[in-house]
Amino acid sequence: MEMIHEQNFLIKALCAVVKNKEACRKRYREHKKEYITRAKLWTKINPEKSKEIKTKWAENNHDKVLASGRKSRYKDLEKSREFTRRWARNNPDKLHAKRQRGRAIKSKAKGNFTAKEFRDLKQAYNNCCLRCGRNEEELKTLGLVLSPDHVVPLSKGGTNYIFNIQPLCHSRKRGSSGGCNNSKGTKDTDYRTTWS
Ligand SMILES: [Zn+2]
Repeated sequence: MEMIHEQNFLIKALCAVVKNKEACRKRYREHKKEYITRAKLWTKINPEKSKEIKTKWAENNHDKVLASGRKSRYKDLEKSREFTRRWARNNPDKLHAKRQRGRAIKSKAKGNFTAKEFRDLKQAYNNCCLRCGRNEEELKTLGLVLSPDHVVPLSKGGTNYIFNIQPLCHSRKRGSSGGCNNSKGTKDTDYRTTWS
């Protein structure tokens, strides 16, 4: 990734000075090492400007950035998985929001909610499950988490906006049964109305 940026920047910088593209490419090939060292030095001296160029390049070369990201991920699969696992552990609300966003896209449902919106919603109900009333701490000891449930299920045309979300407990392991979210299933019970 860094390398692509570096090389692209180098060629661009060279072409700006030498108008003849072929000539500048040839010169770059002949003195590659020297140019890379110089470019790295320039990047160190001009961090702001370098960042600006890199961002602009990434915006215009979205496909290359994605391909390069995929490549580096596959280079060290286990490391990448560990990174994802750690992120998920440290950002449970973001993970919930992300998963529901993915489900909403699949169901062609409208709307999105952010991790902060879900956190605020949980707080409004004292971080408790609206069906069984157990709070997050208690749920944790039972291997459960407080997760966003669609009041009107996506399968029934419900949206993914925060006003169609209620916090219900759910098994920590993806796909396994347990918790109020599973018991509710595809019914459209609104526990917010009965919460006190
Ligand atoms: Zn519950």
